[in-house]
Amino acid sequence: MKVTDHFKNANGKTLFTFEILPPLKGENMKTLFSHIDPLMEFKPPFIDVTYHREEYVYKQRENGLLEKITTRKRPGTVGICAAIQNNYKVDTVPHLICGGFNKEETENALIDLHFLGIDNVLVLRGDCVKSEQRFVPEPGGHHYASELIEQVVEMNNGCYLDDEQVSNSCTDFCIGVAGYPEKHFEAPNLKSDLRWLKKKVELGAEYIVTQMFFDNQKYFDFVNACRAEGIDVPIIPGLKPMTTKTQLTLLPSLFHIEIPCDLADAIEACPDNKAAAQVGVEWAIQQSKELMEFGVPCLHYYSMGKSGSVRKVAEALF
Ligand SMILES: Cc1cc2nc3c(=O)[nH]c(=O)nc-3n(C[C@H](O)[C@H](O)[C@H](O)COP(=O)(O)OP(=O)(O)OC[C@H]3O[C@@H](n4cnc5c(N)ncnc54)[C@H](O)[C@@H]3O)c2cc1C
Repeated sequence: MKVTDHFKNANGKTLFTFEILPPLKGENMKTLFSHIDPLMEFKPPFIDVTYHREEYVYKQRENGLLEKITTRKRPGTVGICAAIQNNYKVDTVPHLICGGFNKEETENALIDLHFLGIDNVLVLRGDCVKSEQRFVPEPGGHHYASELIEQVVEMNNGCYLDDEQVSNSCTDFCIGVAGYPEKHFEAPNLKSDLRWLKKKVELGAEYIVTQMFFDNQKYFDFVNACRAEGIDVPIIPGLKPMTTKTQLTLLPSLFHIEIPCDLADAIEACPDNKAAAQVGVEWAIQQSKELMEFGVPCLHYYSMGKSGSVRKVAEALF
């Protein structure tokens, strides 16, 4: 079922959903299910599964020279979505990125998802390869999420890359996209970022999931700014309970977000990560309560591979 239909069927009740990462290469589905199991009693209607592009690593050869190797540390998004749907009978939302894909490969991935009965995709550009300064599209690939949306919409209309071929079996993907209450880090200003966000919606995106934020006012301001621009689709807040002291500097550097002073001071004062995680849970519960009162259709939690804190938050709310 489509994410947007889940929102409609909820009749104004706030839903609980979460995002997981594919396990590191070499780990198995049992480990992944052991992270998902504790969250299933809160009845998520869908689970997001991230996509991780290739990375370059350098290995020293016997002759002392370095060899550049391409590796994908967290493969398996499509298979994981199918396994989750099969095991838990819930919908999944695979993330689909431009980086590392040409249009042909994207089309093949979408055909696989369609055959597997997956009805949703979160369409993203993806970040640049870690060793590169800026995003470089694959030859024959897409520069921006908006171009990838156009390809999905074409397939929803039964048009594949081969002009001649018009299928009478259209795909019917519900398309979600990313939004940034604190602005995407490359955008010159929020206004410009919102203009491109609006374009994604005009092209066919039916809902927006936000980057994590720790100050609800940033989300409220973002929603107001979106509405003023004429962006009228649901805007799902993405939340992350902070779990370690190092996340105080790690999360801002990775995701280009601010940690409010009160939260930063409380985490800094913690003697260890156990205490920090407790502060993180309490903060996320307060954020969630206020967002529920605001009437958000769904609270979407970034588990980042660990479900313990998300479960504690869900226990207090759902
Ligand atoms: C909810 C969520 C889930 C995510 N999941 C993943 C994941 O699974 N895998 C992963 O690799 N990354 C993921 N990311 C990170 C995301 O890929 C990066 O933030 C990336 O840098 C931007 O992706 P985007 O889809 O927002 O890009 P876009 O919408 O393409 O925007 C990228 C930048 O270009 C600008 N822009 C957009 N269109 C145009 C245009 N036509 N011309 C000029 N400028 C333009 C925008 O303002 C923005 O600054 C996720 C992010 C979020 C918020």
